[in-house]
Amino acid sequence: MLDKTLQLQTISGSSSFPEIFFEPEIDRISLTTLQINLGKVCNQTCNHCHVDAGPHRKESMTLDTSSKILQWIKKHKISIVDITGGAPELNPNFRKIVSECRDLGTHIIVRCNLTVIFEEGQEDLSEFYSKNKVELICSLPCYLEENVDSQRGTGVFQKSILALQKLNSLGYGRVEDLILKLVYNPQDDSLPPPQKELEIEYKIELKKLFNIEFNELLTITNMPINRFRTFLERNKKLHDYFLLLKSSYNTQTIDSLMCRHLISVDWKGFIYDCDFNQMLNMKLSNQKLWDYSPEELIGKKIKTNDHCFGCTAGSGSSCGGSLT
Ligand code: SF4
Ligand code: SF4
Repeated sequence: MLDKTLQLQTISGSSSFPEIFFEPEIDRISLTTLQINLGKVCNQTCNHCHVDAGPHRKESMTLDTSSKILQWIKKHKISIVDITGGAPELNPNFRKIVSECRDLGTHIIVRCNLTVIFEEGQEDLSEFYSKNKVELICSLPCYLEENVDSQRGTGVFQKSILALQKLNSLGYGRVEDLILKLVYNPQDDSLPPPQKELEIEYKIELKKLFNIEFNELLTITNMPINRFRTFLERNKKLHDYFLLLKSSYNTQTIDSLMCRHLISVDWKGFIYDCDFNQMLNMKLSNQKLWDYSPEELIGKKIKTNDHCFGCTAGSGSSCGGSLT
């Protein structure tokens, strides 16, 4: 039976920051999804990025590693592949990976930042996506320009709107097998509002302002790691943010935490319980994905730490949006 208790402990003699331990012991229930992180190269440098991605980063999956991962997907008949980065499209082997997954009949999700569509060499990216029936999950933290640009960089909003209009023109968000989901995350150190209510607001505003349509809105809590953690520290808000996450702990999120149903592989082939653990270098072991079978990963204890409160606060949060 799982222990779902929590403890708030202050380490005497340490700084005034209370160490908050995430205590529930959780294990992996199933393995339906392989989340592949192709690296940290991105055309943007968003201030909440949990990957610390940007144009200056060099980490990117090689052809050899991606081939081994594709063989593993084929061998174990993985049903969903969720491709992320950075901007995964900037990896030279990205289209090969998508095409081969498509040939295997795998459902493909790509986390697209939208502006990458306007990068050199990506002119036909939207058409490539629609041809391969890729489900797209795209960040748009607000339908107002000022808010998007302050979080994701000047000019990002305008490009994102143009990209969404292009995707709509190809049928994304409008026909059954071209799924377009948008992602909202808070501008600051608050929790996301209720997902369904915000989705209705987004749908009305984006249609009215830009004639944009989409399938679903996913709300994601900002994780207190990497760039967002630095932002909180710089503004002396880290302590209060952790207290907010902890005090909003929701036991109903535990069974649907994404780490209980997926495994995350990095650009070198090492595996993690989720993309957040990957960014914190909480590897499962020094073995690579292809050293494991799915059966060995199911039932394995998940490595947790204080950042996990980001997934259990309020309605819960995951790469697929709220959990309850
Ligand atoms: S949040 Fe996404 S788009 Fe922004 S820098 Fe990070 S990986 Fe790139
Ligand atoms: S960060 Fe979230 S998804 Fe990752 S291990 Fe913790 S609870 Fe699971």
